[in-house]
Amino acid sequence: MGLTIREILEKEDFTRENIISLLQSEGDNKTLLYTKSSAIKERYIGNKVWFRGLIEFSNICGKDCLYCGIRKGNKNLKRYSLSDEEILAAARFAYVNRYGSIALQSGELENNKVTNRIESLLLKIKDLSDGKLGVTLSVGEQNPDVYRRWYEAGAHRYLLRIESTNQTLYNKIHPDNSKHNFKRRMECLTELQKIGYQTGTGVMIGLPFQTLDDLAGDLLFMNEFNIDMCGMGPYIEHADTPLIKHSEKLMTLKERFDLTLKMIAVIRIMMKDINIVAATALQAIDPIGREKAVKIGANILMPNITPGRYRDSYKLYDNKPCTDDSAEDCQSCLEARVSLADAEVVYGEWGDSKHYSNRISHKKEIIKKNI
Ligand code: SAM
Repeated sequence: MGLTIREILEKEDFTRENIISLLQSEGDNKTLLYTKSSAIKERYIGNKVWFRGLIEFSNICGKDCLYCGIRKGNKNLKRYSLSDEEILAAARFAYVNRYGSIALQSGELENNKVTNRIESLLLKIKDLSDGKLGVTLSVGEQNPDVYRRWYEAGAHRYLLRIESTNQTLYNKIHPDNSKHNFKRRMECLTELQKIGYQTGTGVMIGLPFQTLDDLAGDLLFMNEFNIDMCGMGPYIEHADTPLIKHSEKLMTLKERFDLTLKMIAVIRIMMKDINIVAATALQAIDPIGREKAVKIGANILMPNITPGRYRDSYKLYDNKPCTDDSAEDCQSCLEARVSLADAEVVYGEWGDSKHYSNRISHKKEIIKKNI
């Protein structure tokens, strides 16, 4: 007979089968899972939340991911790119309001103009904040020298979701061409980590064709890769994407939401000191979805500080929340919500991944021992 949930939760390491059992837990077993993940968060991170002011600075994308609302092939979308002044004003807002960090996110473009522009923006953001504003980048796959230049210009965290670590599933949700290559995405993650970025990845949960075995594989991969940050969220359909034709294969939104919370709880138990984002997509399903994620293990929130008039055009999925809020609305709303989860927002700190510093000091110790 298999182990009970209580017995699994007492183990040091989880097998694939253990993870599947945890993801299937309901009722009292689910409560046991959440109680354990909450306690681990409290012990290793504290009951705290750090902000990353999210600037979705362009929805222009060279890729055609079959699930994504800003894919190149979606002609029903007004394309935009914020001016440098607008991006810097948003960064200044984050600095003045003591957010500690911003996250710059956009569609994926690879060319010299984009490389130079992001490099120059990073330098200006460091300058306007006296080096005090931390910067996370999430602008997709790039060549190693581009990642290096941006790191040297001041970005120190990078989020690149692998989307799914099952290559067969990955190929089902992306077009079959060289722009959508699983191997390259993996190599990018390796490169980011090698350069020295705090490296984050994640997957979408509840995709058509996805199984619990796939999700267990995703969590095992994140642990083995030794990620510093995790951003996972439910897959939500977008009417103007090819994947919409598989909607009848999907779990209900509520099931996708519940499964996402369980994924967050399990990764918190497996990787005690990483940063975990409470994804905005959770709020698209449940008005207090992100707070529920904070309660059971997440410690990062990304208030949207993109100028309001652009937000409607960064629609990755249908019913994206808060597209008509201002940056100020977003902050006060989130602050009230965080206290709902009995947590406290930490202002004026980068809120770096503790896993990263532990990983780096461990590496230094090994090198010292071998000298
Ligand atoms: N292009 C960059 C990249 O791929 O890393 C950053 C922007 S991309 C739009 C950010 C993330 O949005 C993706 O990694 C994906 O997981 C998520 N996303 C896209 N479409 C989605 C959908 N329909 N439902 C949920 N998440 C989605």
